[in-house]
Amino acid sequence: MSNANNTSLERYEVWFLTGSQHLYGEDVLKQVAAQSQEIAAALNESSDVPVKIVWKPVLTDSDAIRRTALEANSDDAVIGVTAWMHTFSPAKMWIQGLDLLRKPLLHLHTQANRDLPWADIDFDFMNLNQAAHGDREFGYIQSRLGIPRKTVVGHVSNPEVCRQVGSWQRASAGWAAVRTLKLTRFGDNMRNVAVTEGDKTEAELRFGVSVNTWSVNELAEAVHGAAESDVDALVAEYERLYEVVPELQKGGARHESLRYSARIELGLRSFLEANGSAAFTTSFEDLGALRQLPGMAVQRLMADGYGFGAEGDWKTAILVRAAKVMGAGLPGGASLMEDYTYHLEPGAEKILGAHMLEVCPSLTARKPRVEIHPLGIGGKEDPVRMVFDTDAGPGVVVALSDMRDRFRLVANAVDVVDLDEPLPNLPVARALWSPKPDFATSAAAWLTAGAAHHTVLSTAVGMDVFEDFAEIAQTELLTIDEGTTIRGFKKELAWNAAYYKLAGGL
Ligand code: MN
Repeated sequence: MSNANNTSLERYEVWFLTGSQHLYGEDVLKQVAAQSQEIAAALNESSDVPVKIVWKPVLTDSDAIRRTALEANSDDAVIGVTAWMHTFSPAKMWIQGLDLLRKPLLHLHTQANRDLPWADIDFDFMNLNQAAHGDREFGYIQSRLGIPRKTVVGHVSNPEVCRQVGSWQRASAGWAAVRTLKLTRFGDNMRNVAVTEGDKTEAELRFGVSVNTWSVNELAEAVHGAAESDVDALVAEYERLYEVVPELQKGGARHESLRYSARIELGLRSFLEANGSAAFTTSFEDLGALRQLPGMAVQRLMADGYGFGAEGDWKTAILVRAAKVMGAGLPGGASLMEDYTYHLEPGAEKILGAHMLEVCPSLTARKPRVEIHPLGIGGKEDPVRMVFDTDAGPGVVVALSDMRDRFRLVANAVDVVDLDEPLPNLPVARALWSPKPDFATSAAAWLTAGAAHHTVLSTAVGMDVFEDFAEIAQTELLTIDEGTTIRGFKKELAWNAAYYKLAGGL
């Protein structure tokens, strides 16, 4: 049995469906089959296409299409379906199948040949290679039925086509992970905080996530029940993997605190495994018998693919888990993040993001330092944490808010940058970024949208994957990037308010 926190994309498949009809006769249908197998193989060969494409026999009637949709729905390994109308496939044949399909759909508008065979082209060739209008027929029926989908256009030899197919696959994998996610909350929301609240019943309907709460003292029992030998082994692993400060090392004055941190990790891990949970939240206001706020343990679990939200923030934990799966195998990482404080030098404004402790070390390729410092709030023992700077590069911060009648995603494209100067007195992991299109526009748009102070920061996947994810999830997404103006953004908010009320009521 695989662990719930698995991020591997190898367990998934995407079906490759080819549309045609009986009218063409056996010989042409054989060529259609051979050519569509070549397209599927070309996608599978691309390193940008992470999920295995499984070719299915050419579809030529409504019964076969309907059955294929039902089979895709019922197979947990199938995270999506790609459809290409190689020839002309009269689209009324697709009505029942598309209406029943519950998996993400990608319409691949391509053709077998890249170039027109100028000297040889005859009408047989024209009949065999007519996706140019076969796919238009398919586009019509998808739009008429209101089927959400991604449309990708171009020959498979074009790397951009494979890149777009791959991005959609990653979004589909994130969706599959969210649909089966069990999220464990230890304690409830931080008292009086608004944006981290939300409708958990609606979340289960919209996203498939089951969000439930356990007493933190049940976790504390698991923590205090961890075997000494397991603690020994984990502490040895810490000393091997990280730069542990001398006071925390074996023989150091505060080594017992590191051992307790290891104990928290062991207890959390076993608790989540027993629950089949791949995401969790904690609350510093409700630590029960725990002696430290979980810091390093949370950081290590995020690095292993778990979603996490602090202060009871289950919505951000969902996003972190989705980002972990969507970014599997790519350089960079994903973490809970919080906009903390600003550098307001004119023309060089930046946002310093961090959290009390819980920032995932997947954001750096360097070796984190393991330190211990007092925590000003919570009234517990000093917690152990990993400290590091996030590696520079492009990223995206994404927040999820409950707007009462719907969930809203807001995403800002950012450039994570190196620190201007070291931060020797800041005892937590952090990221420094400049938001697009500029600081003032970004922050004003973010505030106007009512987006949260907790986010997932992803440096592994970017805006395009989150856009596909939102489309699949049928969830509002407001993007803030190079093209954003406040004037346009406010109009988008107004239009969306009307659109989502209408769409929800129809
Ligand atoms: Mn917070």
